Amino acid sequence: MKGAIVFLVFFVLFTAITLQYATLPPGRELYKILKVPDTDYPVIGIPATNLVIALFNGIMYGIIVWVIFTILDHSRKGKKTKTAKKTEAKKFCINCGTEILDKSKYCSKCGAAQ
Ligand SMILES: [Zn+2]
Repeated sequence: MKGAIVFLVFFVLFTAITLQYATLPPGRELYKILKVPDTDYPVIGIPATNLVIALFNGIMYGIIVWVIFTILDHSRKGKKTKTAKKTEAKKFCINCGTEILDKSKYCSKCGAAQ
């Protein structure tokens, strides 16, 4: 869900940037691959060629940022789970403070009930 928002934000951002700077790669190069002639025919007030290039860039940069975000998010979640497991598996004796197994009912050192 968060990933979709990140994608949308950067998609809109880079589409807007490319509408100002149409030379921003790789939109121009992708448009050339289509082999469609340049046109100034306005779509919602923007020349069609510029709009297509802007949308290409929006999608490309949106995907790149989304992939980076997803990788970072996964590694962060992985770390969190590891830390949680560590604290779950062990506890300390309420009497002497010795580290004991979470499931044990008596302390292995002083024998106090947990
Ligand atoms: Zn103890």
